[in-house]
Amino acid sequence: MKEDPATGVETVDVLSAKVQKEIIKAAHEAAETSGGSLYAKRLQIYPKDVSGAFRRFKWAALVVLLGIYYIAPWIRWDRGPGVPDQALLVDMMGQRAYFFWLETWPQEIYYLAGLLILAAVGLFLATSLFGRVWCGFACPQTVWTDLFMWVERRVEGDRNARIKLDEGPLTLEKALKKIAKHSGWLVISLLTGGAWIMYFTDAPTLTRDLVHFQAGQVALFFIGLFTATTYVLGGIAREQVCTYMCPWPRFQAAMLDEDSMIVTYEAWRGEPRGKHKAGTDWEGRGHCVDCNQCVAVCPTGIDIRDGNQLECIGCGLCIDACNHVMGIVKLPRELITYDTISCSAARAEGRPTRYRLVRPRTLIYSGLFAVVGLVMLGTLLTRASFDVNVVRDRNPLYVTLSDGAIRNGYTVKILNKSRESRSFELVAHGLSRAELSLSGQEALPGALALTAQPDSVTSYRIFLRAPEAAVLDETTVMAFSVTETGQGETVTHESVFRGPAR
Ligand code: SF4
Ligand code: SF4
Repeated sequence: MKEDPATGVETVDVLSAKVQKEIIKAAHEAAETSGGSLYAKRLQIYPKDVSGAFRRFKWAALVVLLGIYYIAPWIRWDRGPGVPDQALLVDMMGQRAYFFWLETWPQEIYYLAGLLILAAVGLFLATSLFGRVWCGFACPQTVWTDLFMWVERRVEGDRNARIKLDEGPLTLEKALKKIAKHSGWLVISLLTGGAWIMYFTDAPTLTRDLVHFQAGQVALFFIGLFTATTYVLGGIAREQVCTYMCPWPRFQAAMLDEDSMIVTYEAWRGEPRGKHKAGTDWEGRGHCVDCNQCVAVCPTGIDIRDGNQLECIGCGLCIDACNHVMGIVKLPRELITYDTISCSAARAEGRPTRYRLVRPRTLIYSGLFAVVGLVMLGTLLTRASFDVNVVRDRNPLYVTLSDGAIRNGYTVKILNKSRESRSFELVAHGLSRAELSLSGQEALPGALALTAQPDSVTSYRIFLRAPEAAVLDETTVMAFSVTETGQGETVTHESVFRGPAR
């Protein structure tokens, strides 16, 4: 890196994306002619430290998100005796997921499906409005990579110091720095893996077990697994995860249009680029002084001046870097800016700019988000304290009794979500003079009394019997209703009654 004595702007020698691509292309050609492999060695990226609004926002997002991640498993929520008091817990052994006041069963997996759909549509909406904000600020890969880079800078120094260190011979100082850096990464990875496991088990108990070396093998295996993945993805693979492994960059372009906010280089203002001498005129040339600061700070090592690229995670650090340079050369900021393509084009032509947040795609995503959100809210508000499932016997479909009556068999399952044993009445509708009975008992007209065990699924084998004259079709659509004695809460389940062909 050298400082232009005239302007005071530091010029960084970097391999621009264009040059990088040429190197890779040349490597491929060389490999082909030599009959060798097409493997291109990774070009190590040394992102430079930068300060500015986007950097501060990234730090704020990192602190908030990591704070939530590490603190959440420690929040307690009293649910009564014998039940986990962890506010957020996925209890695999107990087959329950707890979210503060909400306790869901495996049978209610549709809540998880609804949440995932909400998250996906929310991401589509955010991307169509503000570009890759998820990638740039909130994705765990970005957050942990940022944290790992912070450790790296504290230990090995900024960009130039790190390049010098890597290019230099192995000395005691270099070895100690590398050991310190990787140790720091491993500690963060271990805390990450450990915290993740705490969402699946009682956090204080697991911590106590770990401190006393009494943690189970399953817990240790998963802590090890998540420690290793965090270390490899955040410390070693870094930008390669975004560029090669993550599917999101491949299809996020479908959510963007010319009115989406993206990080963009105002080429109309910056070109033709070139070095600039202090005191000389800006007439006939662009504002880009070709200092490469924007490339040097980029965590994915690209040159945003080459246009919008798949590798750009929209972090805005190149904006901070360029704003700093523009301040030095006393030109307006925002040569690289966070803007829409249509506004950038309008500025280039001297037309007034117009931001269009309300567009067909944002309306569709908002509508979808609202519909899914309302459906989920509706199902949550009307959620019954018990659920019923009825499975009809398929073999035999029906039995003709000695008196000519037709009998069908069913398995009725009552999922009692409360912690007390509860009484229910089962009634069959849609079949005249039908009688219900529990397996092994005599059929009686009217309701069948059932008792469901607390906090579990209780199964009953039942028979429904109807006189031959009442069975008019081969298939009669009917329903079972289960009503809680006392509370009057009713759940109805549709079914069919099968008889002989008429
Ligand atoms: S866009 Fe800005 S930071 Fe990048 S090379 Fe030009 S002047 Fe430097
Ligand atoms: S080009 Fe700019 S916004 Fe895109 S990843 Fe690089 S620094 Fe971040």
